[in-house]
Amino acid sequence: MTYRQRDWGFSRQRYWGTPIPIVYCEKCDPERKGLPVPLEQLPVRLPEIDTQEVLTGKGEPPLAKVASFVNTTCPKCGGPARRETETMDTFVDSCWYFARYLSPHFDTAPFDPKEAQRWLPVDVYVGGPEHGTMHLLYFRFWTRIMKLLGLSPVDEPVKRLITQGIVNGADGRKMSKRFGNGVAPNIIVQKYGADTARTYVLFAGPPERDFDWSPDQVEGVARFLKRVWALGATHQASVADVTYDGPYEGKALETRRAAHKCLKRVSEAIERLSFNTAVAGIMECVNALYAVGTPETQAEKAAMAEAMRLLARILTPFAPHIADELAEAYGAKAVTVSEAWPEFDPALVVDDVIPYAVQVNGKLRAEVRVAADASEADVRAAAEAEEKVKSALEGKTLRKFVFVPKRLVNFVVG
Ligand SMILES: [Zn+2]
Repeated sequence: MTYRQRDWGFSRQRYWGTPIPIVYCEKCDPERKGLPVPLEQLPVRLPEIDTQEVLTGKGEPPLAKVASFVNTTCPKCGGPARRETETMDTFVDSCWYFARYLSPHFDTAPFDPKEAQRWLPVDVYVGGPEHGTMHLLYFRFWTRIMKLLGLSPVDEPVKRLITQGIVNGADGRKMSKRFGNGVAPNIIVQKYGADTARTYVLFAGPPERDFDWSPDQVEGVARFLKRVWALGATHQASVADVTYDGPYEGKALETRRAAHKCLKRVSEAIERLSFNTAVAGIMECVNALYAVGTPETQAEKAAMAEAMRLLARILTPFAPHIADELAEAYGAKAVTVSEAWPEFDPALVVDDVIPYAVQVNGKLRAEVRVAADASEADVRAAAEAEEKVKSALEGKTLRKFVFVPKRLVNFVVG
């Protein structure tokens, strides 16, 4: 009522739909209000027939012609009865299929409430603007009913709605047979492969925005994936099997930092569903790895191998075929898509490190280097960990702790 929900014409004169579990008995139900099919007789299934034989095009329900379906017995008196012959609107199914997916083999209820407790609500719903006025309202209404029935724990079916944009033809008009401006996916796949097709679509812009199909950009994405492949091929023989335990400095550290920063950026972009910036992040990483040049020391080789394995992993959602080949070439055991998502090393992604002077009673005792956005507590912990500061504080009572952001800390002791 609050959301101006409209009445919902629930039944359709179609064969393909969920049967409505209602029967009519002239004796027990002369007003034809309908009697519910008893629980133990559910579900009512569609008869397996040649649908062509019952499709009349005349608007009467096709099931009405199937005597074996229509004729049944009354659940009350056991006498002859007729089944409802219309079927449910398919919106009925789209109101709750997501919950059924949680336990498709559960046969004593629509779905297992334990699984619903664990998984619902759905994280993201991707739909077109045409869903806004009807389906989304029914879908939310149905979710409330499931909660009232004790089946599901949630009030709302999804956390986030994404209304996807439209892909226009290269001429800026909506792709349509009428304009002949469509692009068949199989043509792109034949020419460039599925990796290019997928990466291009994800790179073209935020999912909510419309975009114009651009053959030049498809070409550009294909070139980028070739660059990834060439980078992998260039270093594979000399770095893929290198093992190294020592410290990383200079070029080796730079390589690791580029890879981990990219991993962080791509991971965060994916969480935001900002796939175009994720792809842009991968492109930047590839440029950075080209820029470091040929790895020479063991450390540099090990860093490059690690970077290539990370690159393969983050490429998986966009270009899974190349990613898989690349991962295998660099010794990854599992198929990349089945591996856990990697975690970046926080120490390698700190952009700005700034020095803090650490004073004890105004006298300089040490200098600590921390992330530019480190909190007061972080800076204090770093300062207290310094040996010279520790010994200066030993046995003294702290009177005051002075924190000057981005400059210094001072322990006032007595
Ligand atoms: Zn009856």
